[in-house]
Amino acid sequence: MAPDTRPTRTARRIPHSLETPGRGRVLISGASVAGPALAYWLHRYGFRVTVVERAPALRPGGQAIDVRGPAIEVARRMGVLDELRAHATELRGMSVLDEDGNDTHSTTDVTVSGGRLDRDDIEILRDDLVRILVRAGGPGIEYLFDDSIARIDDCGDEIRVRFTGGHERAFDIVVGADGIHSHTRALAFGPEEQFLRPLAGHLGVWTAPNILDLDRWQIVYRTRDEQTWGSMVMSVRNNSELRVYVGLNGLDHSDPALRDPQVQKQLIAERYAHMGWEIPRLLTYMWEAPDFHFDAGAQIHMDSWSTGRVVLLGDAGYCGSPASGQGSSMAMVAAHVLAGQLKAADGDHRRAFAAYERELRPWVTANQALADRQIDRAENAGNAEKSSENSGGGENSLPTFVDDDFYAVVDDFILPDHGEQGATAR
Ligand SMILES: Cc1cc2nc3c(=O)[nH]c(=O)nc-3n(C[C@H](O)[C@H](O)[C@H](O)COP(=O)(O)OP(=O)(O)OC[C@H]3O[C@@H](n4cnc5c(N)ncnc54)[C@H](O)[C@@H]3O)c2cc1C
Repeated sequence: MAPDTRPTRTARRIPHSLETPGRGRVLISGASVAGPALAYWLHRYGFRVTVVERAPALRPGGQAIDVRGPAIEVARRMGVLDELRAHATELRGMSVLDEDGNDTHSTTDVTVSGGRLDRDDIEILRDDLVRILVRAGGPGIEYLFDDSIARIDDCGDEIRVRFTGGHERAFDIVVGADGIHSHTRALAFGPEEQFLRPLAGHLGVWTAPNILDLDRWQIVYRTRDEQTWGSMVMSVRNNSELRVYVGLNGLDHSDPALRDPQVQKQLIAERYAHMGWEIPRLLTYMWEAPDFHFDAGAQIHMDSWSTGRVVLLGDAGYCGSPASGQGSSMAMVAAHVLAGQLKAADGDHRRAFAAYERELRPWVTANQALADRQIDRAENAGNAEKSSENSGGGENSLPTFVDDDFYAVVDDFILPDHGEQGATAR
């Protein structure tokens, strides 16, 4: 069943005089993974929480993302673990095809998108995860859709926020959880160029009907073309839909034209239209896909994740890129840590922000480094295949890097207990 992405709550405007700050008034920008996860914890700890999302409703875009390592424990403590598992993609394995569509390798051990299948990792569609996190937060969290922060004035004792909708409100803390191109970060820290580190290529993703009749299966289609990465296709939602991924190399990350979805689609069409296998057929669904998503493979690196009363969370502060495989898990773990530190500091933002960064930065840095490893592995695998007479690929050229070293990094974080274990939610 398609997820309900209508606003779960209508925007409510609360006059300042009626606000009861509780432990503190927190505004979170962005309702994807990081924002709702933080909202859940802060609300549970007694903060007054508002989430503002630029989109008119929870954004569709059911690309598969992974919840693994300590993020699974976060989900357990939020009481959503069973629901996440019930919505998992549950892929059985994958096949690797060469440019002519020949199956060069099949495995039930691993998939490119989900990692090792013998682990308890949860691969889930992004919009399913977001919906579950928002619902878990309950009705006490205020969601403002179709709105955004226009201006932030840090007055020292509070922050005054002007919204693009025109109204103004005061908060104690503002959290930028608005993704790799965070607007909150731009307002509080300056232009994106200072913080964005381009990695290899751009990624396009869209939904198509399951015209390949895949049964909980992933196909990786490899090309020798220098300008593309090939494609990854997987069946999702009880095999009723496909997710189609394509990758482009060599685009200028700073080109503003690349922000236009029509330009993005045109580029994909130009580079993929001549390809074999089922690619031309899959491309036809791209044009009208309701959830087409395109972005650069890039990371965010910052010397500090906070300034004054503003703090960054998830991709906004330390995006790992899809190549790290850890964006959503980092966001969920980070939300738990930040909320816990705000609770421990009883709302003292300076103390809490410093502790949040101290506690999380080593793990985040190690996870971001996984992306470079993945890109090197993928390039080596591609080169190995190109130099192979029969382009047979084989174990050593599998386009995945989820080995023991990867999981050693992923698992190397012990989730703190801020007294929530055993405490009654809300
Ligand atoms: C539509 C979409 C599709 C994605 N597809 C993939 C994928 O296929 N593979 C992958 O690895 N990762 C993907 N990601 C990124 C992935 O969700 C994150 O890496 C990870 O989950 C961390 O999430 P986040 O909440 O920090 O940031 P994000 O998931 O990027 O969420 C940021 C949120 O902030 C909102 N926002 C942006 N600007 C503003 C603003 N000015 N005011 C208010 N709200 C704003 C956005 O609409 C979005 O809801 C996708 C993200 C989105 C939004």
